[in-house]
Amino acid sequence: MRIFILGDLEGAAGVVDFHQQTYSDAKYYEQAKRLATLEVNALVEGLLEGGAQEVWFLDGHGPGGIDYELIHAEVQMIIGRPILAPWGLDESFDAFLLYGHHAMENTERGVLCHSWSSRTIANCWLNGEVIGEIGFNAAIAGSFGIPTVFISGDDTAIAETQRYVPNIVSVMTKKGISQTSALSLAPVKARELLQVGGKIAMKKIGEIEPFTIDPPYEFITEMREEKAVDTKAKRADVERLDSHRYKIAGDTLIEIAHRR
Ligand SMILES: [Zn+2]
Repeated sequence: MRIFILGDLEGAAGVVDFHQQTYSDAKYYEQAKRLATLEVNALVEGLLEGGAQEVWFLDGHGPGGIDYELIHAEVQMIIGRPILAPWGLDESFDAFLLYGHHAMENTERGVLCHSWSSRTIANCWLNGEVIGEIGFNAAIAGSFGIPTVFISGDDTAIAETQRYVPNIVSVMTKKGISQTSALSLAPVKARELLQVGGKIAMKKIGEIEPFTIDPPYEFITEMREEKAVDTKAKRADVERLDSHRYKIAGDTLIEIAHRR
């Protein structure tokens, strides 16, 4: 069994603050990365117990969300920037997992919720439906026929994923109180649950359907600043909708991911 994990930093237990923890200049950034790495290791341990033979981990957090020195020996890391979708993912993988994710922008109580960029993007829609990284990336996996079988993060990230994959295996690391506060598990408890969750996720492969969104695609982005749209709108493949929103269209999600 070949397993592909897309990881982020915002969903780890104990991580609740952009400025103190998740931005690369944050005072506790290194600690936040360690917290996430040890959670990933526990998840991977569970996956291996459940029969995984190969585990790839894509570090999806902008400036990096993993401490390479601490990562599990059996993990192959996809790191560095730029990393363009589909990141090496192809039909040969058996399952796609979302580790440490956050809900989309504007989610009530969503811990560190944002859509791709907390600093620049106000909202996104795919084919008329509001969408964040969870739905979009699960749909990319689905476009290769790969099911998304696992999510970890706060309760709102899990609820968002269940809209697309109702029977997904989940581990809730914290319950959102606001965008920057939560009732969090202790990191050691989160690791225990992640290890168990990894093993259960392996059993669910085959029971969970790939999540797909039918082409063609129209992706609309609303920027926080009008200036950012001025720049985008210079491109021939970008249609400006109004002061803050622009649209792109394409026949594949990979194309959308590259151009959006
Ligand atoms: Zn992130």
